Amino acid sequence: MSDIGRMYIDGEWVLSGSGETREVINPADGSILASVTEGTADDVKKAVAAARRAFDKDGWQDTTPHERAALLRAVCTKLERDREPLLKLETLDNGKPLRETGYDVDDTIGCFRYYAGMAEKPTGQTFSVPDPNIQTMVVREPIGVCGQIVPWNYPLLMAAWKLAPALAAGNTVVFKPSELTPLSAIRLFEIFEEVGFPKGVVNLVLGAGATVGHEIAANHGVDKVAFTGGTKTGRSIMQAATGNLKGISLELGGKSPNIVFADADLESAVDYALFAIFCNQGQVCSAGSRLLLEESIQDAFLARLVERANKIRVGPGSSPASEMGPLISESHLNRVLAYVEIGRQEGATLLCGGNRLTEGELGKGWFMRPTIFTDTTPDMRIVKEEVFGPFLVVQTFRTEAEAIEMANDTEYGLAGGVFTPDGAKAMRVIRKLRAGITWINTYNPTFNEAPWGGYKQSGIGRELGTFGYEEYTEVKQINLNLNPGMSGWFEF
Ligand code: NDP
Repeated sequence: MSDIGRMYIDGEWVLSGSGETREVINPADGSILASVTEGTADDVKKAVAAARRAFDKDGWQDTTPHERAALLRAVCTKLERDREPLLKLETLDNGKPLRETGYDVDDTIGCFRYYAGMAEKPTGQTFSVPDPNIQTMVVREPIGVCGQIVPWNYPLLMAAWKLAPALAAGNTVVFKPSELTPLSAIRLFEIFEEVGFPKGVVNLVLGAGATVGHEIAANHGVDKVAFTGGTKTGRSIMQAATGNLKGISLELGGKSPNIVFADADLESAVDYALFAIFCNQGQVCSAGSRLLLEESIQDAFLARLVERANKIRVGPGSSPASEMGPLISESHLNRVLAYVEIGRQEGATLLCGGNRLTEGELGKGWFMRPTIFTDTTPDMRIVKEEVFGPFLVVQTFRTEAEAIEMANDTEYGLAGGVFTPDGAKAMRVIRKLRAGITWINTYNPTFNEAPWGGYKQSGIGRELGTFGYEEYTEVKQINLNLNPGMSGWFEF
């Protein structure tokens, strides 16, 4: 990319009035991929004004669901056309292996298609009420202008999870990608322009969270803010949103338990334990970052786990051989490495990894070996805090009750898994888990059809499925008098 990457505001590709630019870095080798314009709070204000006008005056909220569905289906067609360049771009920008970005692009297409379909499905209800003269109905209507802020770990897919339901439901949007990974969002908005979204309906503002993100959360012209990212940031967004009591949905962090009972098939439970934490370099909100092992199998299990973790091929995402790519940035790598030091100081035992990879070309990027700590105690920071990297802590339990208590001993409640062939035991444990997304004898599968979100400090609201669609609608009751006449309330 030779040109400066621009923002898309009110149907125009624009540079920020700030005159500033930001370099987008390839995490695999530290090279500069692109320069993009650095947006400001003023740019957000312009985008919100455009989105307000498009919603309030220009007729977007009066488009039929079929018109909106047709636009979203056209987006799918263009994404299918651009699948290969898009997945390569995402790998360059985010670092994850091509295999993973392939899944991300396919899931992105699936998400737009799913919500195109949902736009056309019936959503209203009618009620029988005690008054025979009244017919009561409920309709769902768009909320208005939605601000949407996403992180860097799934740049394109998180954009789809936010934009597809919001647009399907008839909202207008002001969208902010992570400053670290804006490139696939720029491509997506080029596609929005190509398929013909009216001016002001879709707006892309680039820039930092502290300025652009904060203004989206605080601006009184925004009716709802939806956010995915860290819990600390989620808290500050919630505070900023209080000014006009805008709607809010938050998809935040986790420290999710993956519970393996002694009767589980060892090979497959080891395999999923690795997948649960090392997929996407562990930079996954729902990662199985705490492995809870029944004590009697810990020696055999950990021996096999470490043997396989040491064989994971770490390398540039653009190399087809790579199974794990670099972390997103040098500062994030240093943050994860700092947790290795914390784990050592806390007295946990490092079983493997724990170091940056510096050999040859890898030394230019932010690569780290899969890391596993055992001999942990529940009060350790490495057990309590979200590390968001290829960093697994092992805890052991003796009884089912102890496993449940340990699994729930966290301020988070996003996800969790259980491995056992005993269906009744699996169900008992899952039903006791205080978490929004759970798996039995598997880990990670995510579907557009099923709700995604957390209990406790892992968030507010749900994305995906009908639940995710409803988050972008207001509910209106309509009472129709079947026998119009006098109310009879006052005598004179
Ligand atoms: P953040 O939560 O800070 O970033 C997510 C998004 O929020 C980015 O677009 C960011 O902008 C924006 N943002 C940052 N500050 C504000 C603010 N005050 N108001 C509005 N928007 C804001 O994640 P980080 O990248 O800093 O990662 C920190 C930690 O968060 C990670 O180590 C991990 O623990 C967790 N995390 C969790 C994720 C999840 O999916 N649950 C995803 C990413 C991170 P900017 O462009 O400046 O980054």
